[in-house]
Amino acid sequence: MMAPVIRVDGTGADPCGGTVRIDWPKALWNAGMIAGTLAALAMATRQAVALFLVLTWASLLVGHSVGMHRMMIHRTFRAKPWVARTLIYVGTLVGVSGPSGIIRIHDTRDWAQREPRCHDFFAHRAGFWQDLAWNLFCRFDFTRPPRIVIEPAIAADPFFRFLDATWRWQQVPLALVLYAAGGWPFVLWGVCARVFVSTAGHWSVTWFCHNPGPGRWIVRGAGIQASNLPGLGLLTYGECWHNNHHAFPESARIGLEPGQTDPGWWVIRAMARLGWVSDVGAPRPEGAREDLEERGQDLPRRADLNPPRVPGSRRSR
Ligand SMILES: [Zn+2]
Ligand SMILES: [Zn+2]
Repeated sequence: MMAPVIRVDGTGADPCGGTVRIDWPKALWNAGMIAGTLAALAMATRQAVALFLVLTWASLLVGHSVGMHRMMIHRTFRAKPWVARTLIYVGTLVGVSGPSGIIRIHDTRDWAQREPRCHDFFAHRAGFWQDLAWNLFCRFDFTRPPRIVIEPAIAADPFFRFLDATWRWQQVPLALVLYAAGGWPFVLWGVCARVFVSTAGHWSVTWFCHNPGPGRWIVRGAGIQASNLPGLGLLTYGECWHNNHHAFPESARIGLEPGQTDPGWWVIRAMARLGWVSDVGAPRPEGAREDLEERGQDLPRRADLNPPRVPGSRRSR
């Protein structure tokens, strides 16, 4: 198994202190996708909607869940270079960010949630609609930010740097292909509606998974505990078993218990059989779980584990 990935240095950083501000490039991008989605609704055709469903599901499964999340962010398996590049390219087409951008978003939130307290922005403690608006239009400016160092294999790789610099433009070649294949309905459904639904869908899984719900494990000392969302395995590529993921980020498989459907894991297993990927990570053995506490399969999260933030409070360290 590969060594665990630690990119965040929280020395001197404050996960509570900072301000939520409008992020104009992000806000304009997502507002454009929402406008395009409304236009798509006005010119819906059966083929365009079918195309949207297939492209959205497949790109989130292969590009986001398997490629960016399980491979690139958590390094739960090793892939041949062409496989890694293909997966991360598809992940970029999801339209949320480029490779390094996604790592920063994920690792900042994950770091903040594993601290004893963190700002509502990272806790997803704000209400559903406010948190959605934050996610679509805003960023968090830390008073004292953590330091994030991304490994050279990604940060210095010319192809990944190119994707980071041009990730929004990567929709253009796809849009041209879609236009040639089916005109404006294909472009609006295949790009705008797909990017908006992917962004909002990804966020909604994040919101529910970091709010109270069932799950077997408690990560000791973490202010935010994760939940599983039963019944949503197929729809979320297995990412809904998020309580397992917080407990075992080293595991390529997220749906660990019987009945926890995990399409992302099916893809990884198939690629391993083809010889495309290796070093597939499993949950660490029983003797190496001092950071975990078992709380029983279906108990709701203890209310005191995600205490409401006291306005203006700072952690004392
Ligand atoms: Zn993760
Ligand atoms: Zn999480």
